[in-house]
Amino acid sequence: MGQNPFEIVLRSYSCLVQSVQTYALRLFPVKQEENYNHQPLTPVNSSLSLTLPPSLRKSTQEDNADVFALSKEVSLGPTSLIKGSYSVPLTKEELGRCTWTLLHMIAAQFPERPTRQQKRDAKELMGIISRLYPCKDCSDHYKEILRSNPVQAGSREEFSQWLCHVHNVVNRSLGKPIFPCQRVSARWQKLGCEDRGCDVDAGDVSVSP
Ligand code: FAD
Repeated sequence: MGQNPFEIVLRSYSCLVQSVQTYALRLFPVKQEENYNHQPLTPVNSSLSLTLPPSLRKSTQEDNADVFALSKEVSLGPTSLIKGSYSVPLTKEELGRCTWTLLHMIAAQFPERPTRQQKRDAKELMGIISRLYPCKDCSDHYKEILRSNPVQAGSREEFSQWLCHVHNVVNRSLGKPIFPCQRVSARWQKLGCEDRGCDVDAGDVSVSP
């Protein structure tokens, strides 16, 4: 069967735009700001990914491995792009940034009035991270920090402030700037989901895996 000319044009356009994005980011890498004036996380659907109709997007990725590799690189962010391949192992710093992002986002979306189960989950999560975090020095250090700073997860505010404090304990030990915890809710906000679709308390928390 002949190919739809519209699809061919869109595929070429997709390759072209991704190539331009990739080389532009290699030439002008996005510099990580360290002055703590960050914008809140951008919703996933407004990232660099190219917007094709779903039917075309699927076939484009399946048919062209290079485009798929590029789109993966783009979605992983500038650091992976600079390295030129998403098969390069993560550094301790990248792992740390990703983990703190997850933890601060969990805290930002933690219910204002958590159930007992949710409070337990928050404590267990921190305990599990301190045991399984894939960097031995970091996990040993984090275990000590948790011993002297037991998890406080009585409310969203309490949990966010506690996490900000323990992150600062790690920052201090690494000689990094101390983050002003009164600005934590400006730095880490809820995801921009419609109709409270991302709210933790909207889901059923009683189900165990
Ligand atoms: P990160 O510290 O990763 O922070 C990411 C972003 O969070 C910052 O850019 C800032 O916007 C924001 N932020 C910073 N501080 C706070 C805060 N207090 N509250 C809220 N938001 C904040 N690395 C080691 O070398 N040795 C260790 O022992 C070690 N232990 C770690 C333990 C844990 C549990 C984790 C998750 C990471 C650990 N790391 C450790 C990694 C380290 O903390 C950093 O993640 C890494 O060095 C990258 O630092 P960064 O400067 O990019 O910012």
